[in-house]
Amino acid sequence: METEIVSELMEHLSDKKLEAALKVNTTVRAAMGEFLRDRGFIEIPPVIFSTVTDPLNHPVYDPSFEYEGTRYALTKSMIFHKQIIVQKFPKIFTFSPNIRLEMPEKARTGRHLLEFTQLDLEVKGATREDLIKLGEELFIHTLEKVSEKHAQDLHDLGRRLSVPCAPFKRYKFEEVAEKYGSEFETILSKEAKEPFWIVDIPLKEREFYDRESDVFPGILNDMDLIYPEGYCEALSGGEREFDLDRIMERIRRKGQTYEQFKWFLEFAKEGLELSTGFGIGIERLVRYICGFERIEDVHPFPKVPGKVSV
Ligand code: ASP
Ligand code: MG
Repeated sequence: METEIVSELMEHLSDKKLEAALKVNTTVRAAMGEFLRDRGFIEIPPVIFSTVTDPLNHPVYDPSFEYEGTRYALTKSMIFHKQIIVQKFPKIFTFSPNIRLEMPEKARTGRHLLEFTQLDLEVKGATREDLIKLGEELFIHTLEKVSEKHAQDLHDLGRRLSVPCAPFKRYKFEEVAEKYGSEFETILSKEAKEPFWIVDIPLKEREFYDRESDVFPGILNDMDLIYPEGYCEALSGGEREFDLDRIMERIRRKGQTYEQFKWFLEFAKEGLELSTGFGIGIERLVRYICGFERIEDVHPFPKVPGKVSV
């Protein structure tokens, strides 16, 4: 088995598609970092394991280990670290490696890797509206840089990429779910020519940490950015719950335990202020830019759900 996997990997590493994707990846990261630094963001180092991590809203295997009597989990996202550090440093970002051991069926989607990187950012005192605007500007800036630098690479890949104009269209989750059914995201993504937002996601569809609207109970002040041409989810984010009682209530309503989040709750007891942020998957963005069917084509050492990988 090892021989086969290694020869498949050697072939993949020599693939022209991978070379183009890695060049695009280099520009994407540089463009995003430059955009954020120019706006006063500071870059923090990633957290790879921790006593507390994102619970996510879907089932995954849970890699954790014990060190000197304390249990640590591999990072699924830095959501809690973002919310904590932003209290001190009001504009932060990081390129965060995340481990999400998805079920093998997820390989079918072409957009799941067990190990990926997201550009994760957070802004203290900002609202969803502010972050939607920032997200649009960041996305446009990145696509402009890539189009400038990689016209030839994209041409060689047969990819025609257009830079969208802001503001992007917005859809309310419940309205499109009612109109198109549970597969609305895929349906709308396939129809769309430009990226668009899904906003006002119901509580049961997301983790406890996104803030519930004061005006519309059961609805979160959050958002997803969806790629056009069937590439589906690009980014998700939202305003964060900062009130300790509301955080505890939300954990309870999810059927989760305070024990699971005790390290975060200790910080929340000290007092948190509103922050808003989002995370955008880098491999998915590169896949979209390159127009690839499968996400593994953008990563030199892809971890595909259900497959043995080097
Ligand atoms: N990093 C978060 C996640 O992976 C996204 C966010 O900022 O809400 O869910
Ligand atoms: Mg989330």
